[in-house]
Amino acid sequence: MSSVTPTSAADVARAVIHAETTGTTLRAVGGDWSLSDVARTEGTTLDTSRLDAVKPLDPSTLRDPSLSPLLICVGAGIRMHVLNRLLAAQGLAITNMGSHSGQSLAGNVQTSSHGTGIHFGSVSDLVRSVRLVASGGRRFQIEPTDGITDPDTFHESDITLVQDDDWFYSAVVSVGSMGIVTSVVLSVVPVFFLAETRVVRDWATVQEELEGGRLYRDHRHCNVLINPYRRRRRYLCNVATRNFTGTVPRWQQWIPRQNAVPTVVSVSGMARGVVRAMNWRSKTVVPLVQSGILRTMARKTSRHISHRILDNGPLNLAHPVYAVEVSVPASDTLAALNAVLRVAEQRAESGGYLTAPISVRWTGASQHYLSPQYGRESCIIELISLHDTVSGRDELRHYFEALLAFGGRQHWGLDLYGFDGTDTRIRTDFPRFKVWKTRFDDLNQTGVFDSMFTQRCGLGVGPRMSGQTSRRQSGG
Ligand SMILES: Cc1cc2nc3c(=O)[nH]c(=O)nc-3n(C[C@H](O)[C@H](O)[C@H](O)COP(=O)(O)OP(=O)(O)OC[C@H]3O[C@@H](n4cnc5c(N)ncnc54)[C@H](O)[C@@H]3O)c2cc1C
Repeated sequence: MSSVTPTSAADVARAVIHAETTGTTLRAVGGDWSLSDVARTEGTTLDTSRLDAVKPLDPSTLRDPSLSPLLICVGAGIRMHVLNRLLAAQGLAITNMGSHSGQSLAGNVQTSSHGTGIHFGSVSDLVRSVRLVASGGRRFQIEPTDGITDPDTFHESDITLVQDDDWFYSAVVSVGSMGIVTSVVLSVVPVFFLAETRVVRDWATVQEELEGGRLYRDHRHCNVLINPYRRRRRYLCNVATRNFTGTVPRWQQWIPRQNAVPTVVSVSGMARGVVRAMNWRSKTVVPLVQSGILRTMARKTSRHISHRILDNGPLNLAHPVYAVEVSVPASDTLAALNAVLRVAEQRAESGGYLTAPISVRWTGASQHYLSPQYGRESCIIELISLHDTVSGRDELRHYFEALLAFGGRQHWGLDLYGFDGTDTRIRTDFPRFKVWKTRFDDLNQTGVFDSMFTQRCGLGVGPRMSGQTSRRQSGG
């Protein structure tokens, strides 16, 4: 397996053509934070880390020049924490983001990564225009039909401007399979500040607040963590709500806002001891540890610049995990969560345990055809299992299957049990899949972006990938 690190779109075009002429495949890798195989290839890896420039937009290129202060052109490989810092320095911010910021912008966009907030979509919904290099080294700037760019003033001889909804809503979330994204234009907002409160509640109270969606509609952001096992006959939850607050003075923004416990656990290696204890006496230790985590995380209101509140910091990084994340319609929140708790109860009877709390978030509907949140407000349920614990990765399958009954769609970066090439679910889960596939067949004409991912999704295997497959099969 080889690797290239381009520094410009022209370099990327050369890498695509080189892969085609040498009969290999090419796959972009951003932060490599996906737990699934979506960034894996047996061909050449394209490291996007040096495609990280941030530029303002020239107002004269826009249909509406007055939009330019809140639009920004960003290199695809920029890490989210770098982007957040650069935006803040200009008095700007993104409206919402995932709970960590080590990922690249394009990696987040291509998988429709999300944070929480029913009034927002995913990171991909902030994109207004995307530049990518498709098969044959063809360069496109793709926008919705009523896109931001004025076609009359567009004079880039080596780039084709396409303003078409089907192109745009197919290409932005295409899991690395329609080309290499070199830059995107993002919609941003003036810098803002958030206040976060984390309280411990029991599941019965949280259920009441979830009736009719009150809990997640009345706050800008809401995240519920649930201990999947009862202690003293009740399920414990940790409810985080985040809302606008006034400006936080600059000096206060330097104060770390995160709870120090996860950092201490990861740095001290304590997590390994916790895992051993969980394996030793699962029935008592697993529920106990989870309640301890939820109680430790509770705290009074903390105020900070938005991205410092939205980023959970080292919380998920204390120990490696397996995770499966499934989006269901927000209207099914309670039914889906109660189904998950029933599975946890049944599995515990036969010694199977989830070793981290269940995480629940909400987002608005996305227009991107392959987004798990396509066309519906979503409740997003993440099931997590710590590495090396009793039940490990296999335990997660039971929850995943229970959530399929609610029309569950999996996160592309966290789909351990996703499509395996034998089912046709991708066609029914995503109503605009046929249109998406037409774009895929065009932008990936030579099969240069084929991979294990496209293969297991049954996306028509191009000449290069079929060659690789047969080599692998004969090798085995
Ligand atoms: C600790 C942790 C926390 C997480 N938190 C969240 C969260 O809060 N919300 C959430 O939704 N997800 C979350 N995830 C999942 C993660 O955000 C996604 O898997 C995301 O895609 C990773 O971004 P990345 O830059 O690492 O992309 P990679 O994993 O490197 O790539 C992801 C996909 O994007 C493609 N890609 C990357 N760059 C380009 C490009 N320039 N052009 C074309 N295709 C490209 C790749 O080919 C691949 O298909 C988390 C994962 C971890 C490990």
